[in-house]
Amino acid sequence: MRITVFLGAPGSGKGTQAKRLAEDGLVHHFSTGDMLRAAIAAGSEIGLKAKVYIDKGELLPDDVMIELINKALNPLPDSSKVILDGFPRTVAQAEALDKSPRSRVSEAIMFEIPEEILVKRLTGRRVCKKCGSSFHVEFMPFEPGKSCQDCKGEFLYQRTDDSADVVGRRLSIFKTQNEGLLSYYSRLGNLKKIDANKQVDLIQKSLVDLMS
Ligand SMILES: [Zn+2]
Repeated sequence: MRITVFLGAPGSGKGTQAKRLAEDGLVHHFSTGDMLRAAIAAGSEIGLKAKVYIDKGELLPDDVMIELINKALNPLPDSSKVILDGFPRTVAQAEALDKSPRSRVSEAIMFEIPEEILVKRLTGRRVCKKCGSSFHVEFMPFEPGKSCQDCKGEFLYQRTDDSADVVGRRLSIFKTQNEGLLSYYSRLGNLKKIDANKQVDLIQKSLVDLMS
């Protein structure tokens, strides 16, 4: 199995890229955020476990996260290519993955992007209350009450997560956590970097080269 970890700040576009790379069905994309939401919605055993922590606003313990990842990896044939998005978040989690030959990480790709651009991207995001689509004020001149381009829903709003204060806090938490992961993967010789401040198709092309 070839496991690639995508590292990048909120707003770096790593989720979008992972989704696009998985479109042809040759690469499996696991976003731990999406997996947890699905497990909770399905009321599975692991979903129930996760819900207890999430309801308390706490992070999930490493063993629950590892169990979630292993459940996803287990059914895949050995020849599979996998992208992990949102995991590992800590060096302890990275070590836990590397402990088992089946979940050992082949490479980590860091999506590099200047912080001021991230701030602009995140604070400029507006979300449709009805369908959840998001738009950027720069690409869709935002007027309060302007309707959604996807569903014609009437109300686009800024998530509290995307306010300037919270964005600053999210980015600084990310930076602290990510520093440990960067040095961990760099020590193992598994760290690759990508300029993520480019057009989406160009980034995808570089990723395909790096992952082949
Ligand atoms: Zn909508």
